[in-house]
Amino acid sequence: MSSRSPCFTVDVEDFYEGMKTLGHEFTPPPAREPGIRALGRLLEPRSARITLFVVGRHARAAGDTLRSLAADGHEIASHGPDHGRLPSERRALADWLRAGREMVEDVIGRPVRGFRSPRFDVPAELDLAEFRDLIAAAGFAYVSDTSRAGPSSPVAELPIARRWRLPIGGGSYQRLLPRAVVASVTRGTAPPAVLYYHSYDFGRELPPLRSVRSRMGASQLLGRTRISSTFEFLIDELGSRTCTEVLDAVR
Ligand SMILES: [Zn+2]
Repeated sequence: MSSRSPCFTVDVEDFYEGMKTLGHEFTPPPAREPGIRALGRLLEPRSARITLFVVGRHARAAGDTLRSLAADGHEIASHGPDHGRLPSERRALADWLRAGREMVEDVIGRPVRGFRSPRFDVPAELDLAEFRDLIAAAGFAYVSDTSRAGPSSPVAELPIARRWRLPIGGGSYQRLLPRAVVASVTRGTAPPAVLYYHSYDFGRELPPLRSVRSRMGASQLLGRTRISSTFEFLIDELGSRTCTEVLDAVR
């Protein structure tokens, strides 16, 4: 992969759990195929390598796919033990961070170096520098979210690619934009450009749009069926490196 290749990342989580945390209830389709399995199939014939941020409580169910992805050179990182709200108390947050790392390490049998918080949250009770300190103390080498503490951070930072003040690196934004525009913006972003997707946008996990009655529900689902093919188009156009490969290259 070229040293300008972006870093494709996928958050491995449950759509229904994430929506419930935000106060929205959806009904799953009768025949669900886990997105992580479909993603594994998509990546298998390709040389591009990505980083997956895995919610600890879903790691075991996806264990076979995660181990096989890790054996193929993809990087498995932590997306917290669950996708709920971050604990507000320092001690509880430190335990929460460590638990997320260990749950994934137990499943893949390899060390986990990276962390991304649910919804890129920074706890309201802490400033960013304190949060970065806790992430480092929990055993992480880098963090990938939407904040930047800068050179004083004890963990390396790989923020999501932004353009026009939007996190255009996110699949949820890309579903509304032409692929060629995303590819050209990504090429024009100073490397490393970090792109992010969700495992539930692969496979058959989401409720069909026609089954959803509320406008909010429809807006969450609109265009999501395009995301997997956009990912495929972009990764073939641009290539991908893991977060750790990107960090090793700049060191
Ligand atoms: Zn997430």
